[in-house]
Amino acid sequence: MHQVSVIIVGAGLAGTSLAWSLRKRGLSLLIVDRAEAVTSSRVAAGLMTPITGKRLTKSWRHDEFFPVAAAFYRAVEAETGQRFFFPRSIVRIFQTAKESATFEKHQSEFAGLVREPSPPLDPRWFHTPPHGFEMPTAAQLDVPTYLDASRTAFQNQGQFLEADVASDDLQLSPAGVSLPRFGLHAKHIIYCQGFAATQNPLTCELPFRAAKGEILTVRIPDYDEVRVLNTGHWLAPQSPGLWRFGATYSWHDFTDATTVEGRTELEVALGKLLVCPFEIVGQQAAVRPIIAGQRPVLGFLNGSPIGVFNGLGSKGSLMAPFFAEQFAARLAGTGTLEPEVSGRFPCISA
Ligand SMILES: Cc1cc2nc3c(=O)[nH]c(=O)nc-3n(C[C@H](O)[C@H](O)[C@H](O)COP(=O)(O)OP(=O)(O)OC[C@H]3O[C@@H](n4cnc5c(N)ncnc54)[C@H](O)[C@@H]3O)c2cc1C
Repeated sequence: MHQVSVIIVGAGLAGTSLAWSLRKRGLSLLIVDRAEAVTSSRVAAGLMTPITGKRLTKSWRHDEFFPVAAAFYRAVEAETGQRFFFPRSIVRIFQTAKESATFEKHQSEFAGLVREPSPPLDPRWFHTPPHGFEMPTAAQLDVPTYLDASRTAFQNQGQFLEADVASDDLQLSPAGVSLPRFGLHAKHIIYCQGFAATQNPLTCELPFRAAKGEILTVRIPDYDEVRVLNTGHWLAPQSPGLWRFGATYSWHDFTDATTVEGRTELEVALGKLLVCPFEIVGQQAAVRPIIAGQRPVLGFLNGSPIGVFNGLGSKGSLMAPFFAEQFAARLAGTGTLEPEVSGRFPCISA
């Protein structure tokens, strides 16, 4: 039997970030991931936006999470020699007079987070002159590059196994857990499965309120705005000449199949925003792992060595590092899990 301290099931934003945090603390680990091409993390735009939503509210604990995320991703960039964390301004364009009025009313709460768009948006690109505000302390994570670079780093240390873990693979033992099919034994196993947790009998009681999202990849000849635009939908640079435009929200279809409705909604919205022609070159869909209360869930199932790290919702890039650090400290015996993420459901404990 190969013995490690922690087995992590799932190498999305949650599992990968937890692995880095454990490694930093010197805990032995093994990630087991089934290497799906389409997952929530691989589809995500990776935006970290301080002020969000129709009602223009400050993102939950953004001031606390953002510096941790920035330092975390920069450290992994240094470790892997790859770039995937991009500080990037986001310009919110008002859609209605009401939105503009809401902003005026709450502007004092946004001190240090907003400014006039500088330089102003170039009106040549837009149907109507764009009015709004710029969030200079925003960022975008190139999530697939982060995940791929991390996978290579863990593979090089013999800490990554490509496999599908079935729920009946797991056995409890006095000293922890084992996955006999893979010859593995550990003190803890942490499930970081995203929405796939709903298929796992151990974790399927978690009250998911998941939302499928669809995103387009578009080519926009000559368009040269490097900031992210947010109009309710967002337009974000991807690579030279390519942008991503998204995302839809659907609360009734939990597949990763792309739909005509999704494409049409996005195509119409982008057509309303931009004067210039664009070409759709790709469409992707995945399910955001949102759990009731819209907060992450971290902790252990009924006091067992079986842990869960899930519920990153629509903000995985921003929140994964902060909570990975917290969970790793707990697993290393040097920290605790806060009640807001570990104490909301009877089956989960800190
Ligand atoms: C359209 C869309 C746009 C988004 N945009 C943003 C954004 O701009 N900013 C942002 O912060 N967030 C965004 N998100 C949300 C973000 O993607 C999620 O919060 C995040 O991806 C959740 O990561 P996770 O690791 O919990 O889950 P996942 O990404 O689903 O990862 C789970 C991993 O576990 C593996 N797995 C599952 N079951 C097993 C098993 N039995 N055995 C082995 N492996 C298994 C899967 O293959 C996968 O690799 C977006 C999501 C979507 C869908």
